[in-house]
Amino acid sequence: MPIVYFVVPCYNEEEVLPETIKRLNLKLQELISSGKADIKSRMLFVDDGSKDKTWEIISAFSETNIYVGGVKLSRNRGHQNALLSGLMTAKEHCDCAISLDADLQDDINVIDEFIDKYTDGCEIVYGVRSSREKDTFFKRSTAQSYYKLMKSLGVDIVYNHADYRLMGKNALDALAEYSEVNLFLRGIVPLIGYRTDYVYYERNERFAGESKYPLKKMLKFAIDGITSFSVQPLKIISNLGIMICFLSIIGFIYALVSFFMGSAVSGWASTICSIWFLGGLQMLCIGIVGTYVGKIYSEVKHRPRYRIEKTIIRQNSKGD
Ligand code: UDP
Ligand code: MG
Repeated sequence: MPIVYFVVPCYNEEEVLPETIKRLNLKLQELISSGKADIKSRMLFVDDGSKDKTWEIISAFSETNIYVGGVKLSRNRGHQNALLSGLMTAKEHCDCAISLDADLQDDINVIDEFIDKYTDGCEIVYGVRSSREKDTFFKRSTAQSYYKLMKSLGVDIVYNHADYRLMGKNALDALAEYSEVNLFLRGIVPLIGYRTDYVYYERNERFAGESKYPLKKMLKFAIDGITSFSVQPLKIISNLGIMICFLSIIGFIYALVSFFMGSAVSGWASTICSIWFLGGLQMLCIGIVGTYVGKIYSEVKHRPRYRIEKTIIRQNSKGD
C-alpha cells in the first residue's frame, strides 16, 4: 500500500480551507480504510505567504487531526514555487504525491483512479479535463490557443492538464534535479519520462473565494512557459531578418527599374534600399547573437541530461 501525500498550495484561501480540509480528509480516510493508501498518508497544505488566516487554519486543524500537515513559506512565491516546495517536502515521506488546488475545482473522486494507475506501475499520472464547458469563453479560447502555440513552438505539454497530477517517488527525485528558477511545472514534468498515464475528470467552479490568478499573473505564467522552454522566438528573429534582406533585394531591383525609367526622385532609390537592407541585416545579426544566448540559456539551466530507470550489468560467474 503506498503512502500517499496530497499537496495543496494555498494563497489567501481562508474562505475555502475549512471545507477543503474536511472533504480531503474524508477522501483520505476512505482511501485508507479501503486499503488503497497507507495509514502514514497525509494532506500537506502549503501556505504561500498568505495575508489572511490561512496558516492559522492549517495549524489549528493539524492539532486535532494527525493527517493534516503544513508548510509555511516566508513570503508569497507564486503557485508553482509553492507547489514545488510542497512536493519536495512530501518526497521525503511519501511513495507518491498528488498535487491539487485548494479550491477543489478538480474532482477529488478520481483520486482512486490516480492511485490505481500508480499501483499498476505508472510514475506520473496526469489529470486531464474532459471538457471546458464551465469556463468563460475568454478563458477557454485563450487557454486553447495557448496550448496550440506551445505545440507549434515545440514544447511538449499535456493538453488540458493543469497541475492536478500524481507523481511517484522516482519522478519527484527527478523533478528535484531541475534547478531552474523560472518554474513551469507543466513543461518540466513531461521531460522526466517513466511510464505515464492519464485520468479524465470534469472541473467544477470554485465553491467559495475568488481566483488567485488574475490576468496579470496568468500572462506572466504563460510567457514563462514559452520563454523557459523554447528558443523558437529567437529563431523567428533570424528568419525575419533573412526575409527582410530578401525583400530588400526585390525592392532594390524595383528601385533600379524606377530609376532607369526616370520615375524616381533622385536619391530615393539608394536611401530606401539601404534602409531596408541594413534593417534586415541588423535583425539577422540580432538573431545570430540570440541563437548563442539561447544556447547559454539552456546551459545555465543545468537540466539533467538523462535519468536511468533500470540498469542490467551481469557479472561473470566464478571461475570464468
Ligand atoms: N496559489 C498560490 N500562490 C499564488 C496564487 C495561487 O499558492 O500566488 C494557489 C491557490 O491558493 C490555489 C491554486 O494556487 O490553490 C490555484 O489558484 P486559483 O484556484 O486561484 O487559480 P484558477 O483556478 O482560478 O486558475
Ligand atoms: Mg482554482
